[in-house]
Amino acid sequence: MTTELTDIQKTIQQTFRNFAEKKVKPAAAKIDEEKKFPLDLFKQVGDLGFYGMRYPESAGGSGLDIVSYSLAVIEIAKGSLSLAAACTMQSLMGTYFLYRFGDDEIKQKYFSEALKGNKIGGICMTEPNAGSDLMGVKTIAKVTEEGFILNGQKTWVTSAPVADFFTVLARTDNHENLSIFFVPANLKGVMVGKSIEKMGVRGSVTSEVGFVDVHLPKNYLLGEIGGGTKCLKEILAEIRIMTAALAIGVATAAYEEALEYAKTRIQFGKPIGKFQAIQMKFADMAVQLEMAKHYTLYAATLSDKNLPRHKESMIAKLYASEIANSICDEASRVLASYGYAVDYNIERYLRDARFTLIGGGTSEILKINIAKELGL
Ligand SMILES: Cc1cc2nc3c(=O)[nH]c(=O)nc-3n(C[C@H](O)[C@H](O)[C@H](O)COP(=O)(O)OP(=O)(O)OC[C@H]3O[C@@H](n4cnc5c(N)ncnc54)[C@H](O)[C@@H]3O)c2cc1C
Repeated sequence: MTTELTDIQKTIQQTFRNFAEKKVKPAAAKIDEEKKFPLDLFKQVGDLGFYGMRYPESAGGSGLDIVSYSLAVIEIAKGSLSLAAACTMQSLMGTYFLYRFGDDEIKQKYFSEALKGNKIGGICMTEPNAGSDLMGVKTIAKVTEEGFILNGQKTWVTSAPVADFFTVLARTDNHENLSIFFVPANLKGVMVGKSIEKMGVRGSVTSEVGFVDVHLPKNYLLGEIGGGTKCLKEILAEIRIMTAALAIGVATAAYEEALEYAKTRIQFGKPIGKFQAIQMKFADMAVQLEMAKHYTLYAATLSDKNLPRHKESMIAKLYASEIANSICDEASRVLASYGYAVDYNIERYLRDARFTLIGGGTSEILKINIAKELGL
């Protein structure tokens, strides 16, 4: 159980807090407005060592714990959820399977460069007819003498329009379970669609990716044939903890800005924060944020100790994403008309926070799985 942060964790938190306040927050509205991948900031996050934080030093990372990683995610997300979504994708799902199963060529040419932010990776799991139900994946890798021929259609792939490589979940024609493949974006037959227009996280560009007769050598199979679902489970808890941290980041930004506003906005001769109706909102928000933060760091601590954390990571993600949406909504009410104005950040937080209800599993799916953990 996390009670107090270590000196290293505090340093990480402060480093990313300073970076987010000085560099990210001032750019966040423009990132959203332009709907463009924030390449320059993405690289600066790489310079801070974020993409390799959770990988061991032997793999070129810095071998830090998931608590430190979560603290960094919260701070980046406070500055811009668009940037944080792109960066967390790179640091976890975009690179994990290359780290686990990539051969020397893949590791040197792609994984090591991705840790520095010089190459960008995306994960292709979702398909037009396979979202929550990943076993419904239809993308097929036909086994040949030389390797595989990949055909299929993926969608909602974060960073796809700027990606150098993909990790693809597909079905082989000789196994009922799913497999994972490494696919460089410049291979013949890889087709990246234009960015999907979204209501939030608009700087984290997302698109469809099609594969038409893409020839893959044998070493582009990551892990074993049919081993994909098992491998995904290895990082499922971390994906959920990371999404909880994203939610806490955007919620904290909304809460802090609304609090400042409540102290300075005068109506009926006094700051609106002096009215009990507004105070009740802040008490609720403060309680929710503290609970979400502590529980998420608890789940992260379980992960660091390699203890069972499946249920805890789902609870953290479910709670943090739900309260983040509620806090952004309440913060918007505190600012009233200014919460509705594009010149203020709150409306962006409200739009961005919706993403945390979907990524890492929807609330409905998490509740079903939590109930299963309870033996129901
Ligand atoms: C901004 C963004 C970025 C994304 N990035 C990526 C990415 O990089 N790579 C990737 O592969 N995917 C990505 N996704 C896709 C995301 O993982 C899926 O959207 C998510 O898994 C949900 O799938 P779906 O949207 O098809 O919803 P569906 O699965 O169709 O669900 C629709 C509704 O039905 C509910 N539902 C589904 N099944 C059940 C059930 N059994 N019981 C009760 N309710 C159920 C859901 O909770 C939801 O409310 C991204 C999505 C977004 C919005």
